[in-house]
Amino acid sequence: PPLHRQRHQFVIDFVKRNKPRKVVDLGCGECSLLQKLKFHREIELLVGVDINGAKVKKKMHGLGPMSTDYLQPTFDQLRVELYQGSVTQKDGRLRGFDLVTGIELIEHLTLADLELFPEVVFGYMNPVAVIISTPNSEFNPLFSGLTGFRHIDHKFEWTRAEFHSWALKVCLEYGYDVEFTGVGKAPPGQQERVGFCSQIGVFHRLGGRNCCNLLFDDDAEDVFSYKLLYSINY
Ligand code: SAM
Repeated sequence: PPLHRQRHQFVIDFVKRNKPRKVVDLGCGECSLLQKLKFHREIELLVGVDINGAKVKKKMHGLGPMSTDYLQPTFDQLRVELYQGSVTQKDGRLRGFDLVTGIELIEHLTLADLELFPEVVFGYMNPVAVIISTPNSEFNPLFSGLTGFRHIDHKFEWTRAEFHSWALKVCLEYGYDVEFTGVGKAPPGQQERVGFCSQIGVFHRLGGRNCCNLLFDDDAEDVFSYKLLYSINY
């Protein structure tokens, strides 16, 4: 399967195993991951955020219930919310989640914005788990003809060592641990040397679900800096 499908399948497999109830996809783009996640009815609240509101709006109505959803009432409730906003800004509505995903997002951030990202996501949103995927630059020589980055909007592409050191620093600062994996295998014999095409970090908050979820220590007023574009209750 194409790489973007493999990345989304990775998240879906995680959701099946861990059954998070509140999930937010950062940099959700045209909501294709959310579209797949809405079928996992352990999820009660599914949120998408992207800085590009026009991109979100393109297909957002596809997230509404299909007529068959009304014909088969279930006890499971699902609410979907889409926001225009930047991962460099805090929004109180995004706290207390079980899972935050950022799939092929961080490499689109300028280094100044990347500096702000961990404090917003790990420090302020402080979810139980975070899944981050980003290109692995060590794999790039396997793309014939590729000279610069994989996409013109990428601000950087990291080696495994660079991603690991960023992730480990985040863990130390905000109280998480991380497992490294990826999707998109290299040809036989080369996997070890170049790694996965997309590298993935799966972060878990130390203390897990039972720890600190609602005990935010700053009593500052919650900020609502994102713009609600769409919401629907099933
Ligand atoms: N996550 C989607 C996927 O897997 O198909 C789309 C990834 S796309 C390569 C990167 C997305 O990040 C774009 O939709 C872009 O608008 C969004 N983005 C870039 N900077 C952002 C920021 N500061 N805050 C929120 N979203 C941002």
